[in-house]
Amino acid sequence: MGRGSDVKRVRLREQVNVLSKGQHFVLRLNDEMVVITPNNDALHHCVKHWIAGGSEDHFRQVTEEQHPTSWDTFKPHFDRLLELGFFEDMDVEHELTAEEVGRWTRMMDYLSRYETEETNRYEYMRRIRHSKVLVVGVGGMGSWMTTQLLGLGIGHIVLLDGDHVEVSNLNRTAMYKPADAGKLKVDCAVAYAKEFSPHTKVEAIPQFVTGPEDLLPHLDGVDLVLGCADKPVFLITKWISEACTQAKVPYLFTIGGQVGPLAVPDSDQACPLCEFTFRTDKYPNLMDTILNQGDFLFERTVGSVVSFPAIVSGVAGFEVMRFLSGYEKPVTVNACWKFDTNMEFRVEPLTKHPSCINCATK
Ligand SMILES: [Zn+2]
Repeated sequence: MGRGSDVKRVRLREQVNVLSKGQHFVLRLNDEMVVITPNNDALHHCVKHWIAGGSEDHFRQVTEEQHPTSWDTFKPHFDRLLELGFFEDMDVEHELTAEEVGRWTRMMDYLSRYETEETNRYEYMRRIRHSKVLVVGVGGMGSWMTTQLLGLGIGHIVLLDGDHVEVSNLNRTAMYKPADAGKLKVDCAVAYAKEFSPHTKVEAIPQFVTGPEDLLPHLDGVDLVLGCADKPVFLITKWISEACTQAKVPYLFTIGGQVGPLAVPDSDQACPLCEFTFRTDKYPNLMDTILNQGDFLFERTVGSVVSFPAIVSGVAGFEVMRFLSGYEKPVTVNACWKFDTNMEFRVEPLTKHPSCINCATK
């Protein structure tokens, strides 16, 4: 909480570039630049304290302790930097506990660059701490995704999967150990999560998804569903999409080398099945083939390397942070982020299909 004092404490924003070269000492933030001369030890000493933060009186005192009367030279620059927004307020009123602030300080430093008149970094963080995210599937992708959610500080995580850990999973999973073999993945994941982040509420649902009805009872109060399961091929995407559409819960798919689209029910945003519906326009029998005759696809196992879920879950983590905190519009709204093993990635635009089998208004 704020200190309840009218002495304002500020510090130099972390995204301010500080350059020292010859006679010039330059501070740059976006398009604004302030040049201070002379560039000397007294100035360096002073700027170190601007970075650490404090009140103006504090800056004057610590600067003049070592370099008497030097503050008078720096004061006009300090006022100018303050006016241009180079400093941020250190004593913002907020609802986070001291423990939360301690754990997520560096993330809030990152979010501080997106502060607006209405929303500061503490508010972005509070939104994340108050969010509930359901992860469907905690195999390769889902286990990495869970570590992302823990790092981001999501307040309430629900993990749904009926599968058990196998030694052959460990080449690409996070969180699990050889001793976990034979145990339920969700139980091992919850044990890991509780140890790693006691600040987070984590729940396990040991269950497979065999249709949208398996998910619906678990969507109450969920802010975002992450689809990290890839079997049965296509059908799992369809079931998760249908359940979330019915319950009006936003959802994001993170499978294979792809993140997105981020679908928000009852919006003009494309859902994962819009793309599929466009394809069935072109190949009218595709739907029937996949839904009724494609069982052979479901049994196939594919090769996988740890780098895939590690990279892709990291990109999805940014999307989760964007969506839940609202600091910036997610990239995968009406788009998919795709990554190939040739190290290239691209963002492909998507359009909502007016007769989508999932999201069209019926
Ligand atoms: Zn759709």
